[in-house]
Amino acid sequence: MTSSSRNSESEKSCWVCFASEDDDRDAKWVCPCRCRGTSRWVHHACLQRWIDEKQRGNSSTKVCCPQCNTEYLIVFPKLNKAVYLMDLVDKAIYKTCPFVAGGLFVGSVYWTAVTYGAVTVMQVLGHKEGLNVMEKADPLFLLIGLPMVPVSLILSKMIRWEDFILKLWRKYSPKLPLISYLFSSSNPSMSQRIPADTTTMSDPLSATRILCGALILPTLATIVGKVLFGQVESNFQRTLLGGIAFIAIKGVLKIYYKQQQYVRQSERTILNFEEGCSASSSNNNNNNGNNNNNNNVGNDGNDNGANY
Ligand SMILES: [Zn+2]
Ligand SMILES: [Zn+2]
Repeated sequence: MTSSSRNSESEKSCWVCFASEDDDRDAKWVCPCRCRGTSRWVHHACLQRWIDEKQRGNSSTKVCCPQCNTEYLIVFPKLNKAVYLMDLVDKAIYKTCPFVAGGLFVGSVYWTAVTYGAVTVMQVLGHKEGLNVMEKADPLFLLIGLPMVPVSLILSKMIRWEDFILKLWRKYSPKLPLISYLFSSSNPSMSQRIPADTTTMSDPLSATRILCGALILPTLATIVGKVLFGQVESNFQRTLLGGIAFIAIKGVLKIYYKQQQYVRQSERTILNFEEGCSASSSNNNNNNGNNNNNNNVGNDGNDNGANY
């Protein structure tokens, strides 16, 4: 065996710090993976440092050899019983905390719903009568019924009855001359285009808007009831009438608004980009544009007429 081959086979050289056995006689060596040749041996301390760097503080992360991809076998000294128990408890707490936090969240949402339900009952029935009703009711019924108040308000808010009426409207309004005169285009040839559905029928079903709108409805119903139906004695009837009136008024306004948007969409035009192009070929188009503007003004006049 020549001295050079002896060097490469058995002389240890650390692949981290490149020191050989002769540089430090007392150092501890390991061959932790399948690598052979120059990267077979590594100082135990160097590899520890390297693993620390890879794990970045999480001692359970697995680390592999960068060359041969063998996972390093890392063993810990045995725990004594007390520490073992503490380790178990620690892991159990770590795993249960997400569930506890989730439960707390659900619980607080539930109790918020119950409180909202109770406040709404008192708002709708009147303070005294509301309290009376809730005192007489079965507690279990209250625990289920009160949180159903906000839930059912939100669910009913998601029913988009205005869209349904609008659909009927668009189907049958051409047959009613007066209405089609008031609400749709006065230029029938322009309104042939049916706009894309997304822009008109489905405004973004924004969750926060539904939530706010649903939860504020009882308050608005109370206010409208007091303003419009002040002579009604019963709190409940007054609020109910107020709520119906509010929903009806809002529905009509919304339908009107959406229909106007629909008409605007259907009458939109696209202009020529270049000056020369519009001068040579589209005197006609320009005229159309002007007509359109006039129509818009006319429509605005109609808007006002319909509103008041
Ligand atoms: Zn080393
Ligand atoms: Zn290796």
